[in-house]
This record gives sequence, C-alpha cells and structure tokens, in this order.
Amino acid sequence: MIFTYFQNELNRLKEKGLYRTLKKVTGPVDTTVTINGREVILFSSNNYLGLANHPALKKAAVSALQKYGSGAGASRLISGNLKIHEELEQRIAAFKKCSAAIIFSTGYMANIGAITSLAGKNDLILSDQLNHASIIDACRLSEAETKIYPHKDLAAFEEILRHAMHSHSKDGYNNIFFITDGIFSMDGDITPLPDLLKLAEQYNALVVLDDAHATGVIGKNGGGTPEYFDIADNKRLIQIGTFSKAMGSLGGYLAGDELIVEFLKNKARSFIYSTALPPSVAASSIAAINILENNKTLLHSLQSNIDRFKKGIAEIGYDSVKIETPIIPIIIGDADLTMKFADALFKKGIYAPGIRPPTVPENQSRIRVSLMSSHTEDQIDKALSVFEEEGKRLGII
Ligand code: PMP
Repeated sequence: MIFTYFQNELNRLKEKGLYRTLKKVTGPVDTTVTINGREVILFSSNNYLGLANHPALKKAAVSALQKYGSGAGASRLISGNLKIHEELEQRIAAFKKCSAAIIFSTGYMANIGAITSLAGKNDLILSDQLNHASIIDACRLSEAETKIYPHKDLAAFEEILRHAMHSHSKDGYNNIFFITDGIFSMDGDITPLPDLLKLAEQYNALVVLDDAHATGVIGKNGGGTPEYFDIADNKRLIQIGTFSKAMGSLGGYLAGDELIVEFLKNKARSFIYSTALPPSVAASSIAAINILENNKTLLHSLQSNIDRFKKGIAEIGYDSVKIETPIIPIIIGDADLTMKFADALFKKGIYAPGIRPPTVPENQSRIRVSLMSSHTEDQIDKALSVFEEEGKRLGII
C-alpha cells in the first residue's frame, strides 16, 4: 500500500529524532512573540532590521492593496506586469548598483530560475559545500555538471576546477559558474568574494552570489557582500537576493547586467510560469528600500547588538563562538544535547533553535542565534544570562 511507505518513512524520521513539527506563532512579527502558547524573545528570525512589522511597510502595502487589488492575476509576461513590479526592479537594481534586475516570487525561485537557465549542458558549476538548499536544488535541476568544493577552501576550489577542466572533453566547457552564498545561512560567515572574482577573471567564469542574508545587513549602506568588500560594479558578478529577510517583505530578485536580466525574462521558467507578486508585497519591498536608502539607524543598531552579544557570550565562557554577522552558530556537537539545550532555553523564554543533521553536518549540531536591530539591550542581556545558566547546568560551558 502506497500510504504504508509514507507512514514508515515518517516513523523512521521519528526514530532518528529527525521528525519536524510546526510551531504556532501568534501576534505580530516582533522581538517578543508567543510560540506554542509561551511568550519568548525571538532569536531565530531573518527579520534583521525589524522591518516586517514596520509602519511604513504596512502603510505601503495597504495603499497598494487599495489601488491595485490583492493579486496580480497573471504571470508577468501575460498580463501580470504592473507598474509597481517594474518600479521595484528599478529600485533594487539601483540599490544593488547594477544596471538591471528581475524579480521572482521568492528567493528560492530566483535561485531555481536563474541557475537552471544560465547553466546548461556542457557547462560547469562550482558550488560551496555550505550553500543554501535552493542553490543545491537548482544545481540538481540544471543540466550543468556540478562540483561541490569544501567550504571557502580556495586551494581545493582551484584544484577541483583544474581537474574538471583537464578531464573534460578537449573542447572544454561552454561556460563556468562559481556559486556561493554571501553570508552562509547556518554559519554566519562571509564568502571570500574578491578572491572568487579574481578566479572568475582568470578562468573566464561568472560568479553567482546569493546575498539573501547579507543584503541590508553588511556593507556601509547595507548593500551586502560586494559593498562589504568595496567591490565596484563587476561584469562577472550576478547578485541574487530576497526581500524576505532584512527587507521584511517577500520576493526574490536577481540584479546584474541588462543582458543577463533580458536572458532570464526569456528563459527562467520560475519567472515565466509563475504569477507575478501581489502588488502590496512589491509595495512593502519598495518601502523597505526607501528606509535602507535614507536611514542608517537600523543598520547601526544591528551592529551594536552584534557587538554586545559578541562581548557577552565570550565573557560567560562560550569562547570558541565565531561572530562576523547577526547569524551566530553556537556549536554544541551532539544532536540530542543541542535539542535539550534549545528546549531549556525555550522554557526560560528564549527561542534560539537547535539545528541538527541533515541541515548541518554530523557532530556540528548547534544553537543558531540570529540578532535583530530591534532587540533591546535588556533582551540581549536576558538571553546571555539564560545561556549562562542553562549552559552551566547542562555542562556545555
Ligand atoms: N538563499 C538563502 C541563502 C536563504 O537562506 C534563503 C531562505 N532561507 C533563500 C535563498 C530563499 O529565500 P526565500 O525565503 O525568499 O525563498
């Protein structure tokens, strides 16, 4: 019976401690939320700048809803291409200092659409081992040959690249793509973008950068990884991102050269065959760009919260925690202990989820803390005192 298979598979996940359930969050998206009936301080959101519940974004959404209605009604190429979609594309292109941009329904769809249409038969992709699942899925769907390189290891990267080129047919690959997250979603570290661009020049490749977690977060104007490294417009760089994290809204995008954007409008199936974003969602994203362009206060508070947490966590004895960005992995190792720790934190009013395999490698289970500009100093200090108490109780520190 086909249903027996599904049931057995779920039972297997339960036995291995990998069964997932949804948590019910009530109330607005803020630093304090009620999860499964318990009020907790949220340390698990990608809403880095607190914009998801910002009055300007809500106002923009309501007014677009009144003006245009609730849905776009069709895909962009049929009759769903509203003025507000084009406005959003121009604004995100300008924000990213690129000549053009194309929006998708989500960041996941941006990766799927872009990677499967840019990289095809007889092409080579080099993808970082810790890239996001949407990149992994896109590489699997694409007809290109994909090689995974050890996380940020450029010596291994070049070796794999040279070996692939050497063992490929004498005519070589058509095109080569290096694909990487900007800030890695489970480790919070930053990709070596300048080195990858140098290698791209040397090997005539394009770099596809997924800056989902970096946009609105790093760089002096929140421009993301290229701005962080002071990289001016570079023809070999394609930037993918999402409005769903620091921008507090929803929708994916690719920003880059006009030619690439035109190519995707004609080729990317997740763009062509999917309904355009609701206009109210596009309006919120535009409002988020307005805030980022005109006000650096949120970026600065995010940075001072990172600094406060970094100093505090080291002081209480978590001295091996590496902190570069608002995504902070507190590596515990053992999956059961990690989940026990996460549960203890939750019971004391702190929600910072435990992450275990298959999301992270074996023995790399961790508590993943993510900080927001809207966390108060008191909320951060409360979290630190619970990390100290429960960490000591469980023998972690
Ligand atoms: N890329 C990365 C690195 C991500 O972390 C995510 C979301 N978790 C996505 C892409 C997908 O973005 P979205 O949520 O807009 O689909």
